[in-house]
This record gives sequence, structure tokens and C-alpha cells, in this order.
Amino acid sequence: MCKASSHAQKASSGDSPAGIGRPQVALDRDSPVYQHHLEDLMYHALKDDKFIIYYQPLYSIQDNNFTEAEALLRLQDESGRFVPPDEFIPIAEKNGMIMEISSMVLNKVAGYIRSMLSCGTDIDSISINLSAVDLTRPDLADHVLDIIRKNHISPNRIVLEITESILIRNYRQAGDQIREMSSESIQFALDDFGTGYSNIANVIDLPFDDVKIDKSLIWDSIKNRKCNIVIRELTKAFKDIHLGVIAEGVETPEHDRFVRQCGCDRIQGFRYAKPMPSSRVYDYFGRKMA
Ligand code: C2E
Ligand code: CA
Ligand code: CA
Repeated sequence: MCKASSHAQKASSGDSPAGIGRPQVALDRDSPVYQHHLEDLMYHALKDDKFIIYYQPLYSIQDNNFTEAEALLRLQDESGRFVPPDEFIPIAEKNGMIMEISSMVLNKVAGYIRSMLSCGTDIDSISINLSAVDLTRPDLADHVLDIIRKNHISPNRIVLEITESILIRNYRQAGDQIREMSSESIQFALDDFGTGYSNIANVIDLPFDDVKIDKSLIWDSIKNRKCNIVIRELTKAFKDIHLGVIAEGVETPEHDRFVRQCGCDRIQGFRYAKPMPSSRVYDYFGRKMA
């Protein structure tokens, strides 16, 4: 289903109508009752196809437009409130539901890419977050490639995001999976860089295409001179070894100026585009900034 790309929306208006955040009545997120409630919500969302995928467009500094996005999962409770993924993903990882959820996300994203390409939309790729649990699946590469083929897209349209913490927990197995899928042209991004204290030698040994600098480092760089210098130098070093560098969490003109001075390639942040429903992303792809 194609949508005319006439009315580009303002980035600042991009979040859910229902609002994302904590329930109105304070609930202890660690309580067994709340966790059970989320398990139940996820079970029904999977069964009734009620999970929603939002997309956050990434801005390319060099091209001055948006040709990529990150898929971000949304789960609504009975009142229409969006439960933050940071609350339900860890539960899905614990109870094993995450594998089915990741397959569902991959299927939907691959189908979405197919439909956009069929409409002639100018899109390069969409990234998906993988969980540590997904990487323990021995048939992961075959499974991912199968979904890609069924949707008739090329593997380089999909970027799999792997966090530093996943690599720290299980470097060997994750590394083997990344190498296998990368050899089939699936792209990889190292997510949340700077939060996990991973072994940098291990990280650069893997075939990542991009590094995403975590938002906490971008924010700290504005306030902290040492952090500012380290991020500048790291960005330069990553680019010297031909890794793309994505700055996360760009919210203000100061963040924007800093990441451009550092030489980052792409920007993911509320200043440019918030996560939004699939129907609105069409307006962003191929759109130039004023
Ligand atoms: P992430 O992978 O680091 O995703 C980026 C998060 O940063 C998103 O939060 C996005 O809304 C937020 N963000 C982007 N730009 C800005 C900004 O300028 N300012 C601020 N304050 N935040 C910004 P979200 O959607 O709440 O997702 C949180 C985390 O949940 C993700 O972090 C990811 O770890 C996990 N997640 C989301 N969807 C999935 C999924 O489908 N599978 C898995 N395994 N994890 C997911
Ligand atoms: Ca991510
Ligand atoms: Ca991230």
C-alpha cells in the first residue's frame, strides 16, 4: 500500500497518541504481578498480531536525507498505554518468547521494505534489534535468510543491531553468527557503543558495518571535556577503519553541532525524527532537510 509523500510531518510531533511511559497508577515494575501482566500482554499480542512496529528514520549528513530507519517494537496495554520496550523485552528474554517476537519483527520489517521498494520509495535499509537469546539459536542464519528470501529483498536491506553487552556475554557464539550472516551480505551495527566496556580488539575483529555511539556519550560530551575529546578521536578512528558512525540521541542544536564536528555519518535523534508508525515513515524517505 503506497502513500503519497506530500505532507512531511514535523519530527517533534512523532510519538504515540497513546503516550509512552509508566502506568498512571504507580506499579512496581519488578513485582511478579506486573511481570505476569506483561507476559500475558505479550502472549496475546503475539497470538492476535497486536504488536506494533514503530520506525525511527536516520538522517544521513552526507546525503542530507533519510534513507534508513530503526524498527522499534511497541506493545499497548488495555488502556492504550505504550509499555516501554525496556520493560517487556527483558521478560520476553527470560521466558523465551523473544525468539518468536524477533521472527515476527523480522517478517514484518522485511515485508515493509518490500512494499516500500514496490512503491519506488527511496530506502536503503532498516535495522532490527537482536537479543542475546536470538544469537543462541543454531539455525539463526538460515532462519533470517529464509525470511529475507520469502520477502524478495536483498540481504543488505537488513541491518542487525547487536549491543556491546551481547558480545561481552557470549563473544564466541555471537561472533560466529555475525560472521556467517555477514558473509551472506546481511549488515551489522554495533549498538549502544560505549556502555558495555567491551574488548575493543574483539569488536573491531567482527565484520560490523556501523557503530552506533550511545546517547549517554553524546550527552556527556557536551558537559565533559574529556568525554568530548575521546568521542571525537574514537569517531575518527572508526572511520579510518571504514566503519560508518551513527550518533544516537541527538536532541539539541549543541548535540547536532558536536556530532557533525566529530564527523559522524548519520544521526538518530529526536531533533530529526522520533519513532513513528509505519504509515508516516513514507514521508521521510528521500526527504531533504531545509
Ligand atoms: P535502542 O536499540 O538503543 O533504540 C534506541 C532507543 O533510543 C529507542 O527507545 C528510541 O526511541 C530512543 N531514542 C532515539 N533517539 C532519541 C533521542 O534523541 N533522545 C532520547 N531520549 N531517546 C532517543 P525505545 O524505542 O524506547 O527502545 C528502547 C530499547 O528497547 C531499544 O534501545 C532496544 O534495546 C529495545 N528494543 C526496542 N525494540 C526492540 C526489538 O524489536 N527487539 C529487541 N530485542 N529490542 C528492542
Ligand atoms: Ca538499537
Ligand atoms: Ca542504541
